Amino acid sequence: MAVVNIRRDVEDKFYRYRMPLLQTKIEGRGNGIKTVIPNMSEIARSLSRPPTYPTKFFGCELGAQTSFDDKTDRYIVNGAHEAPRLRELLDGFIDKFVLCGSCKNPETALKITKDGDVLRDCKACGKRTGVDMKHKLTTFIIKHPPPKKAKGTKGAGKAGGQDAGDGGDGSDDELTKRIKAEAADIPTAEQRAANGGGDDDWSVDTSEEAVAARVKALEGNMKTSLVLGDDEDEEDEESPYGIFGQWLLDNRKGGEEGREATPAEVYKKAQELGIDKKHKAVQVLFQGLFTEDAPQEIEKYAAVLVKMVTSEKHQKSLLGGLERLAGVQYPSLVPNGVPKMLMQLYQIDVLDEEFVKSWGTHVSKKYVDKDTSKKVRRAAAPFLEWLDQAESDDDDDDDDDEDTEGEAKANGAKKAGDDADDDSDLDDL
Ligand SMILES: [Zn+2]
Repeated sequence: MAVVNIRRDVEDKFYRYRMPLLQTKIEGRGNGIKTVIPNMSEIARSLSRPPTYPTKFFGCELGAQTSFDDKTDRYIVNGAHEAPRLRELLDGFIDKFVLCGSCKNPETALKITKDGDVLRDCKACGKRTGVDMKHKLTTFIIKHPPPKKAKGTKGAGKAGGQDAGDGGDGSDDELTKRIKAEAADIPTAEQRAANGGGDDDWSVDTSEEAVAARVKALEGNMKTSLVLGDDEDEEDEESPYGIFGQWLLDNRKGGEEGREATPAEVYKKAQELGIDKKHKAVQVLFQGLFTEDAPQEIEKYAAVLVKMVTSEKHQKSLLGGLERLAGVQYPSLVPNGVPKMLMQLYQIDVLDEEFVKSWGTHVSKKYVDKDTSKKVRRAAAPFLEWLDQAESDDDDDDDDDEDTEGEAKANGAKKAGDDADDDSDLDDL
C-alpha cells in the first residue's frame, strides 16, 4: 500500500514520519450511500490518534454523519466522498490536531487539562500548544479522551503492543513501563498532606504530570528545554545560554565529565561566556546545575548564586529555574523539595522576603505551564507560612525590603509589565 509523508507538504523522501495513503470505498446507494475508509486504523496508528478522531473530523468538516465499529475496524462517513478530498481533509486534521503548533513535528500526544483545554504535547520540542477549542472535534475529544495505553486503543487493539515505536502517548513499551513504575513512587499522600489534604483529582493529575515529565527527561529533551524561555532568540543551543546549560549538565553531579565543577569554576564559565550578570543565566544555572538533591546542592553552590543573583529580575529567573527543575525535570522535588530549596535560597540571602511572597501568590506561564506553576506554588506553602510567622515574630526589622527596587533599577531592567500579562492571581488554587 502506498505510503506518504504525514506532512504532505514535506517532499523529503527520507522524512521520518510516514503514514499509509488514505483509501476509500463507496458502499450502498441512494440515501444509504456511504464512504468506508478501510485503512483508517493504520493511518490513525501512524498519527498516534484513535481512528475515531480523523473520521469524526471528516464528518464535522463535511457536515456528514459518521459511524465507527472498531470490532470490525470499519470507519464510515455517510455520503459519497472521493479519496483526494478526504486526503485533503486529513491534512487539515493533521495540521490542527497532530502537528506541534510550534515546531510542526507530528510526535505529539493530546492532553486534556483539568480546565478542559486540549493541548498537543510535543515530544520533539517540549512545547504544549492548544487546539482550536471551537472546533466540533475538540468537543468530541473532550467527551472521548485519548486512551492512556495502547491496549486501550480500540482501533489499535488488533496490533497488540506492536506499535510501541510510534512515539505516541499510547505506546506501552519498556521505557514507558519503567517510567510509570518510577512515577508510582511519588508520595501522593505527602503531597496532599503538605497542601492541606483532600483533593483526589489533584494527586492523580500530579502523577500523570510526573510520568510525562519523566518521559521527557529520559528522552533527552532536557537540554533543549533548558533554555526555552522568555527570550525566543536565545533558545538556540549555540547561544551562550545554550552552551552554559550544556556545560552545566556535563559538569554537575553525574554529568558526562564525571566530576563536579566547583562554584568558582561555574562562575568562571558564566564570565567566560559573558553572561555572568544576566538574569537569564540564573535560570539556566538553576536548571542545569541542580538535580533531585537540589536542596543540598544549593548550599554547596551558594557562593555562585550569591554572586549572580543581583536584582529582583534575577530572583525571578532563579525561581523560574526552580519551577522548571521541580515542575518538569524532577517532579520528586514536589512537594518537599520545593520548600527546602526556597528555605536554602532564603538563608543564603538570594531571595527577598517580599519578592518570594508575591511570587507565591501569582501563577505565571512564563517558565512552565499554568498547572505546573500552580503545583510548585502549592508545594511552596509551608515555606511561605513559615515566612509569615517569622515576620510576625520580628515585625520591626525588615528594612531590606527597599533594596530590591533600587537594585532592579540599577540593573537597567525594562521590567515593568514585560511579563505582567502572563501572571494571574492564584485565586483558584
Ligand atoms: Zn514541537
